[in-house]
Amino acid sequence: MAVPKKKTSKSRRNMRRSHHALSTAAYNECPSCGELKRPHHVCGSCGQYDKREVLETAEAA
Ligand SMILES: [Zn+2]
Repeated sequence: MAVPKKKTSKSRRNMRRSHHALSTAAYNECPSCGELKRPHHVCGSCGQYDKREVLETAEAA
């Protein structure tokens, strides 16, 4: 089994982990209802995508 020759220092370890942070998910306002929705996703509150294209009826009609 391959074994590291030298102990990784706290500095080296933390430098490696400097790229590990998660970014917050992107959100945009829905053009039809104004609710926050993820880009390129169907709106969860009004069920529309790309204006007027109703894919699912989440609201009671
Ligand atoms: Zn909407």
